[in-house]
Amino acid sequence: MSGTERDAVVVGAGFGGLYMLHRLRSAGFSTIAFEAGGDVGGTWYWNRYPGARCDVESLEYSYSFSPELEQEWEWTERYPAQPEILRYAEHVADRFELRHDIRFDTRVVAATFDERASRWLVRTEPDGETSARFLVMATGCLSSANLPRIDGMDSFAGRIAHTGRWPHEGIDLRAKRVAVVGTGSSGVQAIPVIAEEAAELFVFQRTPNYSIPARNGPLDPDLQREIKAHYREFRAANRLRPAGLGARWPIGDQSALEVPDEDVKRDLEERWRIGGFAFLSGFTDFLKNREANAKAAEFVKRRIREIVRDPTVAERLSPKQVIGCKRLCLDTRYFETFNRPNVHLVDVSEHPIERLTPRGLVAGGREYEVDVIVFATGYDAMTGSLTRIDVRGRNGVALRDAWSAGPRTYLGLGVAGFPNLFTMTGPGSPSVLANVIVAIEQHVEWIADCLAYLRSRGYATIEATVEAQDAWVDHVNAVADATLYPTCNSWYLGANVPGKPRVFMPLIGFPPYVEKCNEVAAKDYEGFVLARA
Ligand code: FAD
Ligand code: NAP
Repeated sequence: MSGTERDAVVVGAGFGGLYMLHRLRSAGFSTIAFEAGGDVGGTWYWNRYPGARCDVESLEYSYSFSPELEQEWEWTERYPAQPEILRYAEHVADRFELRHDIRFDTRVVAATFDERASRWLVRTEPDGETSARFLVMATGCLSSANLPRIDGMDSFAGRIAHTGRWPHEGIDLRAKRVAVVGTGSSGVQAIPVIAEEAAELFVFQRTPNYSIPARNGPLDPDLQREIKAHYREFRAANRLRPAGLGARWPIGDQSALEVPDEDVKRDLEERWRIGGFAFLSGFTDFLKNREANAKAAEFVKRRIREIVRDPTVAERLSPKQVIGCKRLCLDTRYFETFNRPNVHLVDVSEHPIERLTPRGLVAGGREYEVDVIVFATGYDAMTGSLTRIDVRGRNGVALRDAWSAGPRTYLGLGVAGFPNLFTMTGPGSPSVLANVIVAIEQHVEWIADCLAYLRSRGYATIEATVEAQDAWVDHVNAVADATLYPTCNSWYLGANVPGKPRVFMPLIGFPPYVEKCNEVAAKDYEGFVLARA
């Protein structure tokens, strides 16, 4: 093979790309990865904002594919902070000698399927072209930063930063007046930390969010030892959970409407004390039935009223949507932060930020003078990193055109008209509704097995059929429509990006999805067309 020919190209060197590269290389496929960033880590390379950390527990948010790696790595906290996760990604890259097959600071800008050769031609910047039989997009579901277009953006004389593109040298916020725009998970993590550093903090909130205490702290060494002693069983138990996580905590099998209110409250109190995502796992219908949901929602709102001293501020911080339809936030002293004299909540739900001026932001007719504006405004999630690349399949059709009315995939892995293209944790798979590392490992292993199957039988291409894809999209929608998820303006629906089609993108429920993927593979990749050169 020449220097520019490979069996596979992997785009991205986050946790998805790293493991994909390792797995394909181990199976004897010549593979190269391209990464726009300067090093490995993906999310954890880019997100260096104050307070950035995981909200899946460290013993779960880690690879399971290597028992040695699992045993040798020591986590220090219940939820690891960004620097620790980045060190872990770097350790993985070193341990499995991955870096020499990764081109850093190299962005994939286009990929065209050559129908005659049955190969992808991948164009990178700075200048480069690579031809590969297979193209795996490990580009990340939350890697395309969403910076809102606000008039006067260029006129602001101070510093602007997006949480997902935080400068490596950091930003000195001491004695500064700071604005944070956005109160999703990133904002909820950053706000309490920035409040301690900054002289004055203005929080621009469009939609209040539910947040549950994370109860972070040093990881109990006995717990770490105990889990490591039974890691296989622990991983297996997690994979059977609806979101591939939380096996340490009990899960309920009753409706919240079947038991007395006092019992529901007691369960929620216990889960609030424990902290974390287990909060909504006590009853089966919190995310299916509005009446049941209201019990959990009201519980959190009561807590907000208890924590926040100013009743007007507490009311503004109280969400109106059902709980859980936007991703639940986990926090460390988020609501408490609004009791600080240097923190001011600016409600922009009715009067959006009008413009930026050289001195600050204008909202509701008032100018807020600040030195730094932090945009915690999220991502063009799930599709953004894919459609920003000029991907062309059969007949030169662009992926962004094929998806103009919303993403269409088969299993979140393949796209009709785009042979040999794999979308890792793509729309139509559980992805962001699961512990993403668990979702990544399942996809990597399925894709690697698929490529080995094709090679052993002499197939050159695999491509989802339109029928299988249509049926899958209908299935993903039907599963979502049986829940409360589609009832609010979340990024799961693309509602956060102006003009983005409103389609529920991830598939709810990890274990049945895994079963389906295994079944498809066992039936010689049912729903895909396999062809020889
Ligand atoms: P990423 O880590 O996003 O990596 C994708 C990489 O692809 C990036 O480095 C990017 O630069 C590169 N790339 C994209 N396009 C191109 C291109 N055209 N050319 C070259 N390179 C490209 N998930 C959880 O399960 N639990 C959590 O607690 C959690 N916390 C999170 C916290 C934050 C702040 C964010 C933003 C996300 C969080 N996530 C969490 C989701 C997280 O994205 C995943 O857990 C995981 O890190 C995704 O890995 P990935 O490799 O799929 O994607
Ligand atoms: P997000 O959840 O999309 O939140 C973005 C926030 O910005 C929302 O409050 C949004 O308001 C607001 N916003 C967007 N545009 C705005 C505008 N023009 N004016 C005012 N407000 C605006 O993004 P995120 O917080 O970065 O989180 C994205 C996802 O990344 C999370 O859901 C999670 O999956 C992951 N994440 C996880 C963690 C963690 O704890 N481990 C931390 C960060 C991120 P609206 O709600 O009104 O749109």
